Amino acid sequence: MNDAQQQLIVRDLTKEFSLAGESLPILNGVNLSLNRGGALAITGPSGSGKSTLLYIIGVLDQPTSGEIIQFGQNPFELKAKQQAEFRNQNIGFIFQDHHLMPQFSVLENVLIPTMVYQGTTSDAEERARHLLERVGLSDRLNHRPAQISGGERQRVAVCRALINNPRLLLADEPTGNLDRVNTESIGKLLLEINQEQNTILICVTHSRELAVLFPQHQRLRDGSLVTETA
Ligand code: ADP
Ligand code: MG
Repeated sequence: MNDAQQQLIVRDLTKEFSLAGESLPILNGVNLSLNRGGALAITGPSGSGKSTLLYIIGVLDQPTSGEIIQFGQNPFELKAKQQAEFRNQNIGFIFQDHHLMPQFSVLENVLIPTMVYQGTTSDAEERARHLLERVGLSDRLNHRPAQISGGERQRVAVCRALINNPRLLLADEPTGNLDRVNTESIGKLLLEINQEQNTILICVTHSRELAVLFPQHQRLRDGSLVTETA
């Protein structure tokens, strides 16, 4: 297989928002490349554009200019329907505040991404149970999000992001609302899964505690990524 089939490549990515007729540059030439199995933490102060960058890599927002190639495909060249399918099949996204559906059980929440294209099969349910067991939530399958702790909710969100076997796992401040112990355990969990499933993992965070767990760490400064040393 061609190398590009195994990579995420971001080239000269820029993003501007327009606000009240004014153009507001946020990303100003972001470059990065990661292979399967690679894991990167991106830090930066609040408002530096971390979420904006991650949403664009996650194909949830459009870049202003630049190129993104994921596994040999530029997802922004796809038509809307194919793009949504590409996202569903290849990208797992963990949001800062979990975004679980309050009316659904833990198990049902994990199964949501399987409902869209393939329809939930007994295989998918088996896989959801496995994932929830993997993160220590076997005894919480039928609980509602409000009945479990913040750390547990984030573990459910991790399982939901993994249910379709994504090659790219993106986490936006996954420990933003958690204490130190939960921060470390979610970070370790993400990195273990990254190795077990040979994903590409990108985690944006303002937590140094979390970032130092990662083999690579870059900082978003003035709209570009700079390498952090120690
Ligand atoms: P971070 O995640 O690092 O805190 P964000 O990516 O959320 O930063 O935001 C970066 C900047 O872009 C902020 O100044 C924010 O106000 C601005 N911004 C984000 N989304 C929009 C939008 N849809 N329209 C206008 N400005 C936006
Ligand atoms: Mg953010």
